[in-house]
Amino acid sequence: MPLHGPLVDRYGRVHRDLRISVTDRCNLRCVYCMPEDGLSFLPTSELLTFDEITRLAKVAQSLGVTALRITGGEPLVRKGLPSLIARLSELGFDDLALTTNGTELGRLAGSLASAGLRRVNVSCDSLRPERFASIRRRGNLTVVLDAMNAAEAAGLTPLKVNVVLLRGQNDDEILDFASLARDTGRIVRFIEFMPLDADGAWERDRLVPGREVFERISAVWPLEAISESDDAAPAERFRFADGIGEIGLISSVTEPFCGTCNRLRLTADGALRNCLFSDDEHTVRDVLRNGGTDAELSLVLREAVWAKFPGHGINEPGFLRPARSMSMIGG
Ligand code: SAM
Repeated sequence: MPLHGPLVDRYGRVHRDLRISVTDRCNLRCVYCMPEDGLSFLPTSELLTFDEITRLAKVAQSLGVTALRITGGEPLVRKGLPSLIARLSELGFDDLALTTNGTELGRLAGSLASAGLRRVNVSCDSLRPERFASIRRRGNLTVVLDAMNAAEAAGLTPLKVNVVLLRGQNDDEILDFASLARDTGRIVRFIEFMPLDADGAWERDRLVPGREVFERISAVWPLEAISESDDAAPAERFRFADGIGEIGLISSVTEPFCGTCNRLRLTADGALRNCLFSDDEHTVRDVLRNGGTDAELSLVLREAVWAKFPGHGINEPGFLRPARSMSMIGG
């Protein structure tokens, strides 16, 4: 394992993108992510503090990480999040973004933007109020749509809308979401349902392949591929041929993009994970709390990346779901 230079794995993938989960709690219970009830949450003492997160981010930056995304659980239920954003922003990453369900975004958009957040991805799986409520089990569509406006008004752009498609539940809204992209300039990203739901109800035929989404949209509005400046980005990007709007397809299951993956994740309780689907965890919390040096933190970061497998293995016969589900890892 190299002890100098950028964070590289055995397959030559250089890691520049760190996803930081700040909590495993969420105020929604999306069917594809969390159970309706019965999930126990981490005690506060086990969560990394803002000091600890900032320190780790700084060490990661010294190893070549250039982009941070804050996630959860729902990151905006963590108290004082704008103050963490301000501290991370001061470090000067090329990108500092947040993924949110939008429920608290309307209230916090201004302070997040003032703190230095660049942009947000807002999850929204239906544009029909009742269906939104049935997929997300809590929350309210109008609040989320208003929050998108507030985020744009605060300058958190380009705003991306994340849509997890579930066969028979919301796949009849593909064109409605394509229209949203065309009408608002928001980048709508269709995400394949992955085997990371806490209910363990994932089945392959419940996901809607990205290819199908492409065909259904382009039959109405022809699409053109956008050549990607960032090869490691998970979404395949398309513009509408008439020049109005953009969509993204995140086909994690049917067309895995592991070969260009440059992402590393930090769970809310301080474990580094090199893949959503790997159970291999490398704790930094112990190092942080036992007086470890930056050199020791760097070593854990390097080891976590070096241990990464070539792919997530979902499509291989022996695939086993990871023990932690999406909200506990940080999406
Ligand atoms: N609470 C925030 C939110 O709702 O965006 C951030 C965390 S959430 C885990 C991050 C993203 O993961 C969301 O866009 C969500 O829709 C997506 N997600 C959660 N479970 C998923 C699954 N089983 N398959 C695909 N995407 C999933």
